[in-house]
Amino acid sequence: MKFRLVLATTLLLATEGLSRRTCGSDNPPTELIEKAILFKAMSKFKPGSNPKAAEEDPAPRSQVIPLHIHNVYVNKTRDQGYITDEDVQNQFNVLNDNYASTGVSFDLRTVTHTEDKAWAMASRGSTAELNMKKTLRRGGYADLNIYIRPLRSGLLGYCTFPEDIVKGSDKFFLDGCDVLFSSIPGGASTGYNEGKTATHEVGHWFGLFHTFQGGCSGGDLIDDTPAEASPASGCPVGRDTCRGDQYPGLDPIHNYMDYSDDPCLTEFSPGQTVRLYQMWDHFRVPQGSSNRTITRTSMH
Ligand SMILES: [Zn+2]
Repeated sequence: MKFRLVLATTLLLATEGLSRRTCGSDNPPTELIEKAILFKAMSKFKPGSNPKAAEEDPAPRSQVIPLHIHNVYVNKTRDQGYITDEDVQNQFNVLNDNYASTGVSFDLRTVTHTEDKAWAMASRGSTAELNMKKTLRRGGYADLNIYIRPLRSGLLGYCTFPEDIVKGSDKFFLDGCDVLFSSIPGGASTGYNEGKTATHEVGHWFGLFHTFQGGCSGGDLIDDTPAEASPASGCPVGRDTCRGDQYPGLDPIHNYMDYSDDPCLTEFSPGQTVRLYQMWDHFRVPQGSSNRTITRTSMH
């Protein structure tokens, strides 16, 4: 009896693992959480107000982000990780569309395709991952590098959060986002193939947390994303996991930083836009010069 119960639980977990978004970016660095707490305390922004008029700079902001996309594949077939330049362009277009409301746009500076099984399948934290990124990474800390590859761990993607880094350190080279190749627009990951995994992961790169980070009482430290106890899956309209007067609003299931299916994800909140620029100004701009890191390309 006990055995059957354990078996049933195992099967349930296995099924869940296949049917919900899996992002590996669960643990923001302590310094980033502390910074988010500080920004939240300082914020003049209130839900419902114009985010672009809430902070010191009242002018609508825009920011162009240099983007470098690296496709790393096992062999040159679509089911082994290879994507075409047209696929890259489609993913790039989705990123620009999804970030349009924030004023962020991306400038595609580099596209690389590399056949290397060890790199394509490298798990997070492995030597192969570090070697791959030491070779392929382009630009400075304000340059976004996205690696589109098979991964291996069952994840749709993962990304680094911004933090204080030392130029040329392993942390610097590892900075960027990894995205499952089949999550690109038209890819094979049913329910997650509109390219919004990249949008979600890049949100972490900007310093945004999951909407369910910290659950009802902890929250994601953004004022206008309603509290959410756990990740959403599918598109559960009306879901409300944190009830009571202290938790107004339904779960933010349409927010790019939740776990809903791609068709369900449609927005960043105004408060997230404010936070994105706060983190950008604090971490990425001061450490962003690419001049001193370009020489790294000679290591290839
Ligand atoms: Zn995530």
